[in-house]
Amino acid sequence: MENIYLDNSATTRIDDRVLEEMLPYLKSNYGNASSLYSLGRESKKAIEDARDKVAKILNCKSSEIYFTSGGSESDNTAIKGIARANRKKGNHIITSKIEHRAVLETCKTLEKEGFEITYLDVDRYGRVDIEKLKSVIRKDTILISIMYANNEIGTIQDIEKIGKIARENGIYFHTDAVQAVGILDIDVEKQNIDSLSLSAHKFYGPKGIGVLYVKKNIKFEKFIDGGHQERNKRAGTENVANIVGLAKALEIATESLQEHKNKISSLRDYFESNLKSKIENVTINGDIENRLPGNSNILFLGVNGQDLLLNLDMLGICVSSGSACTSGSIDPSHVLTAIGLDEEKAKSSIRISIGKYNTKEEIDFLVKSLIEIVNRQRNV
Ligand SMILES: *Cc1c(COP(=O)(O)O)cnc(C)c1O
Repeated sequence: MENIYLDNSATTRIDDRVLEEMLPYLKSNYGNASSLYSLGRESKKAIEDARDKVAKILNCKSSEIYFTSGGSESDNTAIKGIARANRKKGNHIITSKIEHRAVLETCKTLEKEGFEITYLDVDRYGRVDIEKLKSVIRKDTILISIMYANNEIGTIQDIEKIGKIARENGIYFHTDAVQAVGILDIDVEKQNIDSLSLSAHKFYGPKGIGVLYVKKNIKFEKFIDGGHQERNKRAGTENVANIVGLAKALEIATESLQEHKNKISSLRDYFESNLKSKIENVTINGDIENRLPGNSNILFLGVNGQDLLLNLDMLGICVSSGSACTSGSIDPSHVLTAIGLDEEKAKSSIRISIGKYNTKEEIDFLVKSLIEIVNRQRNV
């Protein structure tokens, strides 16, 4: 059975062009980038070329780009690294209640070290209130960490404005842009971003590789002790193939940004209007006006989301209930709870995330399947 993959916020299928670009570095060009002979120097050059490409796309300097193992590591390193290195300046960090666990759990760790964290509420659309943000800033606030776009409901924050407020107050601004990069515009200069996380597997690149951007002159603790790789910040032999793949995937995504955005959002709109015309009592969670183009988080009143997911799986359709990272547990999603859904409603919601390989036929099959399953479940 062919899978109908509609969980592109969890991860994406690698683009064939990305794989092609990576293969030589897994086969013949296997030199260690720290070695001085030409086989090693080729690897070194491939890494630095990739770094230049990424920097150009983000609009920063190559020396501000660090390759990591992915979004989680980048978030951990940015937040812990900046907080610990700037402790003399202050002890207070501001974030939101709808961040990815990579940010929330990192903040919890810092709380144990004595940092004070303010977890901002969001409104029913998942938006951070800018006035509220301003009001919780203190003299000892050193860092604000707000995600660019949410992985569950897709809500996009006004990060340019948040970055501006942070800068005016002499506070560093980190953004988890893992869901945004590759589909939304990004420019760290224009958007006043001091540090940023991205992850290749969310935009048709390989898993296990990400980027941390940190603006020059911002102190942060190194994350792995050892060799001198990544300008002494992250020791360990570089994953050349993955680094090359990340840069290629980012390049492809950037070239075709508008085209994919249009394709994906029109498929999503087609899905939602079809669904709403054919099933009663469905609500779209989050910010309909201002969300990721492929995101559709839907509440099916009176239906268990987990059962719905499993029934769709039997038909080869992959979707997510709540966040992918918490789907092993039965807790309601912290994001849906934060936008005001009660436990029952949160557990009656599923996330469909459409990507560039999805087709209209797949959406038709999804709608047809949903009608059958939802009606069956509501009748028992
Ligand atoms: C997927 C995701 C992460 C984690 O990235 P990994 O590369 O899987 O570690 C962090 N933040 C957001 C918003 C994500 O969607």
